[in-house]
Amino acid sequence: MAKNTKSTPKHDRCSFCGRGRDSVKVLFQGTDGSTICNDCIEMGYKSLESNELTSKEGKRGAKRSDFSADKILKPQQIHDFLDSYVVGQNSAKRSIAVAVYNHYKRLVAAESQNNEVELDKSNIILVGPTGTGKTLIARTIARLLGVPFTIVDATVLTQAGYVGEDVESILSRLYQASGYDVEATERGIIFIDEIDKIARKGDNPSITRDVSGEGVQQALLKILEGTVVNVAPEGGRKHPEQKFVQINTKNILFICGGAFDGIEKRIAQRLNTHAIGYGRVNTNHFDRKNMLKYVQPQDIKSFGLIPELVGRLPVITHLEPLSREVLRSILTEPKNAIIRQYNRLFEMDGITLTFEEQALDYIVDKAMEFNLGARGLRSICEAIMKDLMFEAPSSDIKEFTITKQYAEQKFEQADTALIRDNQ
Ligand code: ADP
Repeated sequence: MAKNTKSTPKHDRCSFCGRGRDSVKVLFQGTDGSTICNDCIEMGYKSLESNELTSKEGKRGAKRSDFSADKILKPQQIHDFLDSYVVGQNSAKRSIAVAVYNHYKRLVAAESQNNEVELDKSNIILVGPTGTGKTLIARTIARLLGVPFTIVDATVLTQAGYVGEDVESILSRLYQASGYDVEATERGIIFIDEIDKIARKGDNPSITRDVSGEGVQQALLKILEGTVVNVAPEGGRKHPEQKFVQINTKNILFICGGAFDGIEKRIAQRLNTHAIGYGRVNTNHFDRKNMLKYVQPQDIKSFGLIPELVGRLPVITHLEPLSREVLRSILTEPKNAIIRQYNRLFEMDGITLTFEEQALDYIVDKAMEFNLGARGLRSICEAIMKDLMFEAPSSDIKEFTITKQYAEQKFEQADTALIRDNQ
């Protein structure tokens, strides 16, 4: 039964949550008599971590003990955290929250004595147009969990023995990101971007066999399934007499992302065939503007990823194209929104910077007009702010308002070709 905290003397209950000494594991006491329990310390630490206020070592070094069943964040908590950084993309956020939750449950289960049912890995594949937040989601998840994280571009990967980065080099990068901590590396997250670019060219492997793409897929398959990879210690290059560090990839979470240009046609084709085949499915109710939401593993396969690899990416989710409203929110709402960042930069010079609503609408209009997506927002803002950022620190202005007129004038002076090229 819960204790009546009011009757417990002050020094015997946590000054933060009010629970008595009997209800907590440890109660620390400060010099002024105030107290804090282990759970409140932990919550405080998580909050620091989510705001990147912990030391680098603290962030990287998620240890075995951090993954006990009662400490895993619930899908709703993961989703809420993603909400502070990623605008929209609700369907992707929900699937990822569940996948990450299950992944960490799997780690807990692997450590427990009861191994009757072995849980499969919940690697994720994100399908969506470029610049819609795939990398941002993966990065945010890693930040939340405080595990090492690395991004690799699938297009630079080659089979071992070819010129380029071989697939195992991904592990060296993760090991480096962990601060050379094997245990942390083995629980990290690897984001493989542009996975669609290593697709086999054509549906039939025997006719149009594209060796390099397929070879890379085969090599990736091995590390996704779980294998032990030799990595050079402290990031050096591999050479024959060297002692290697061994990294087991069994518990590393892989998130793959790709635009899969043209996959909508395959999805529509499948849905239509289905409709004809069974005669009952009414294709009229499909949201034709956003066919990605119906993406299934077979579409990814028909795009050219080998079935074994698709099988190792059981969580498949899509990202929506960014609407005007979403772009507008991205400018100001996320915790590290672009406009907030400018405000912070100017604040450090003692200047209060304000953006007129119409100026913000203008920035979004330009991003839409040039079809630049969310990445374009930053380049457009940079073009507008460039002069002010140069001049303001050596002036004595204390306040500045970016009006629509100012934004227009600065943007028109900028080289729009350059803005496009920056994407
Ligand atoms: P992708 O990996 O899908 O190509 P990114 O995640 O790299 O796209 O997004 C590019 C940039 O655009 C991010 O750094 C972020 O600032 C912004 N962005 C994209 N989508 C969103 C979103 N849904 N919410 C907030 N910012 C976003």
